[in-house]
Amino acid sequence: MAGSGTFWRVALRVFGLTGGIGSGKSTVARRLRERGLPVVNADELARVAVLPGSDALRQLIAHFGPKILDAEGGLDRAKLGRIVFADPEARRVLDAITHPVVRALARNHFAELAERGEPLACYEVPLLYEVGLEGTYRPVIVVNASDELRRARLTARDGLGIEQIEARIAAQLPLAEKVRRADYVIENDATVAELEAQTDAVFDALCRSLALDSERYPKPELR
Ligand code: ATP
Repeated sequence: MAGSGTFWRVALRVFGLTGGIGSGKSTVARRLRERGLPVVNADELARVAVLPGSDALRQLIAHFGPKILDAEGGLDRAKLGRIVFADPEARRVLDAITHPVVRALARNHFAELAERGEPLACYEVPLLYEVGLEGTYRPVIVVNASDELRRARLTARDGLGIEQIEARIAAQLPLAEKVRRADYVIENDATVAELEAQTDAVFDALCRSLALDSERYPKPELR
């Protein structure tokens, strides 16, 4: 049944994965995929939602004008990002246009997974708490790391300046609050191999809590 985190046919259970910017969500998701768990990524769905020719892109152009397009006629996400970052009303319009499409795409993915008999899937949603999905996708795993480590990793990965990083961190619910609300917390304050080992341990505990056999998701060698 859509909207409850449990989908029809087989009882597909979908749990949430979230965290702060640069806290290590993608690295955790990669490990879960390596173990054979289906992981759906909300950011990817949000990109699909506004592909050229889509109804959502037409609505965005109608509202914001063609200045949000790149030379090829696709959405220039950086440009739109700058607009909505500075204007909460513009952010509200963007969300109102794109969120229903993302929700529908997610439902389709989960229906397909249920159809093929998957008992469990992960939905990686960076803004899970901010958009109010914590009741839908349970349990929730939060990936935690100190602000200092996140700054250092984002600087290395994206070449972002300190001000851009601070603005992005400030735009989200504080990571400490997400940790407080989490069902499971993965601490990412050491090496990638340790992050993967912790991911394994938390995922095995989550499987146990749902009476699922984690042997179904074999562990490849750690990095
Ligand atoms: P975003 O919110 O920006 O998408 P994220 O939460 O998905 O980020 P990752 O992309 O997994 O985070 O990690 C951020 C960067 O830090 C990546 O370049 C990743 O390889 C690196 N990283 C993650 N964990 C560690 C670690 N324990 N040690 C060293 N580097 C790490």
